[in-house]
Amino acid sequence: MQAEIITIGDELLIGQIIDTNSAYIASELNKIGISVYQITSVQDEKQHILKTLEEARHRAEVIIITGGLGPTKDDVTKHALCEFFGDTLVKDKGVLQHIEELFARHINTPISDLNRGQAMVLSSAKILMNRYGTAPGMWLEKEGTVYISLPGVPYEMEQLIQAEVLPRLQQVYSRPYILHRTIITYGMGESDIANTIAAWEDALPAFIRLAYLPQIGKVRLRLTGKGPDKEHIDKAVEEEVKKLYALIGDIIYDIEHDDPLEVLVGKALAGKRQTLATAESCTGGKIAEQLTAVPGASGYFRGGIVSYATAVKVDVLGVPQHLIAEHTVVSAEVAGAMAARAQQVFGADYAISTTGNAGPEKGDSDADIGTVYIGIATPDSVYVEKFNFGNLREKVINKAVNKGLEMLWK
Ligand code: ATP
Ligand code: MG
Repeated sequence: MQAEIITIGDELLIGQIIDTNSAYIASELNKIGISVYQITSVQDEKQHILKTLEEARHRAEVIIITGGLGPTKDDVTKHALCEFFGDTLVKDKGVLQHIEELFARHINTPISDLNRGQAMVLSSAKILMNRYGTAPGMWLEKEGTVYISLPGVPYEMEQLIQAEVLPRLQQVYSRPYILHRTIITYGMGESDIANTIAAWEDALPAFIRLAYLPQIGKVRLRLTGKGPDKEHIDKAVEEEVKKLYALIGDIIYDIEHDDPLEVLVGKALAGKRQTLATAESCTGGKIAEQLTAVPGASGYFRGGIVSYATAVKVDVLGVPQHLIAEHTVVSAEVAGAMAARAQQVFGADYAISTTGNAGPEKGDSDADIGTVYIGIATPDSVYVEKFNFGNLREKVINKAVNKGLEMLWK
């Protein structure tokens, strides 16, 4: 969609006034996705105006013209347009009434025939009422191109652009602007989220849509705003995101960029030039697998041990035997020791460990099926969290992986 602007007036060409109209119009058109191809200023001279219109019509689908609509002889735009469209001027009753009212209310001189002449418009024009002045705007169409003639007085022109021109252009040429915002949540299921945000979702404006994109362990909420006005859409979507934060901020992990957790963890580590190691039991190396799937992981991932068998936790990883004897293998104590040992063995700044019972039967421990302890060793401390991820083996494993990465990222 391309537009041209033609500003008409001798005063522009002798340097008496600066053409601010076209700057204003260009900026407003750009906001709604219409780019301006050329701006031309022409004298109040019929042949020049005709020549300019003739050239512009081959290039543009929208031509906006300002100036030269006044009642005096030097304003010839309407006559040029008549010739260009093969049209004639007719008196518009609505405009005449508007002029008479304007004079009666605001202007202390008696209304003249010249003033009444402002009510003469092209017969084929759609009238754009000028609230602040006597010269109406005109919307004309020919061979697929729209011509919009507006008064030259800046505040009159601006009012018409806002009230009449932009809304119409958006209707005719709407090339909608689309904005996506993806909010990544962890730790709450799709239906729980849906219940929590039901009232908010119902109150969403029609031009914003919400999609639930569940994955194991996380739900992505994608907000899509769509409409002709970018600024409006941007603002409205941001507002809805804020409202969403107020409702479920505690489970929101990331927004906008759709980086998975392992990428976020990697970026955080790389940024701090720190390293990470793993000691996994029930997740069977899946945390290490996720971490190493990210290009550049060698910069921060030292390595890991899949210490699945209890004996390997002791003999290879170096978890003290007495901890296992005292607390069982699925315990906070063992998870903490696994993380601390991995940190030491691999000489890493951070380490993560998992030990749990993914089911379907109880193994080396009495722990309930679904119980997983995740340990994190940081440069300053070791801490452990206990979870129950249910009784589906695959889910327990995947949720533990996600939770672990999430703990690392936080
Ligand atoms: P009116 O009906 O009010 O006479 P008009 O369409 O005849 O409007 P002009 O006579 O061309 O408009 O211009 C009116 C005034 O508006 C000019 O004296 C000038 O101050 C201002 N103006 C016109 N064109 C421009 C422009 N392109 N940029 C900035 N100001 C302009
Ligand atoms: Mg003029």
